[in-house]
Amino acid sequence: MFKIGCHLSNAKGYRNMAEEAHKIGANTFQFFTRNPRGGNAKPINEQDIAEFKKLSGEYGIDVILAHAPYTLNCCSAKPEIREFAIRTMKDDLNRMEYTPNNLYNFHPGSHVGQGIEVGIELIIQALNEVLDSKQTTTVLLETMAGKGSEVGSKFEEIRQIIDGVKCQEKLGVCLDTCHVSDAGYEISNNLDGVLQEFDHIIGLERLKAIHINDSMNPIGSHKDRHQKIGEGTLGLETFEQIIKHPNLKNLPFYLETPNELEGYAKEIELLRTIRKGK
Ligand code: FE
Ligand code: FE
Ligand code: ZN
Repeated sequence: MFKIGCHLSNAKGYRNMAEEAHKIGANTFQFFTRNPRGGNAKPINEQDIAEFKKLSGEYGIDVILAHAPYTLNCCSAKPEIREFAIRTMKDDLNRMEYTPNNLYNFHPGSHVGQGIEVGIELIIQALNEVLDSKQTTTVLLETMAGKGSEVGSKFEEIRQIIDGVKCQEKLGVCLDTCHVSDAGYEISNNLDGVLQEFDHIIGLERLKAIHINDSMNPIGSHKDRHQKIGEGTLGLETFEQIIKHPNLKNLPFYLETPNELEGYAKEIELLRTIRKGK
């Protein structure tokens, strides 16, 4: 089954996200656990969660992906910023247990001049504090564009992080198509080669989700500016290959393109048409 959705606002709660997803033809979605810049999360409303679960069942919505605030930095040079990231992620994962067996994605972080090795070590330490063998959520490391001092733009860095984590069974990877291209991986001309490399270094069994975004910038630009599907440097043919690829087609796909709901509905329809082969 084609699992396709987009990023939705959780401002009006879980039930509302299920309704919005269904309305735009999505059967999964991504949302921020709280204000993307950080801050407090709204308390969980159990009634809202119960209604969300009922509606999701009716609509066939599942594999929801919570995205950590993008301002968190597990490998900051400042201990209080690292501690804030750990506290926030722990709180998010506790909340995720109200909707068990789903996914939680985070940006590994920026080493801010401490060097990649220190960055990786700090991310490992954070994950070892955050992950709990009893949690039902799988935590995903997002592949990054390599903007500034971002960690996680090379598959080897992600591998190194996973290797240092104790609860590896709770860890996976979310591949962002804009980010990997900006990081220098040739998914347009050599998708098979990139996936082989991913498999060789990380293992395809770790790949749990795809952020499906075109890029405003050329391969290797390290910019991280998302573009609408087919309107960027990756182009529609790349996305046709991606959503039909035997190693990817059963994963959930999440659009994070510059769109309002109406635009997302169109992109979802476009991708569904391509997937069927017209
Ligand atoms: Fe992200
Ligand atoms: Fe992303
Ligand atoms: Zn991005």
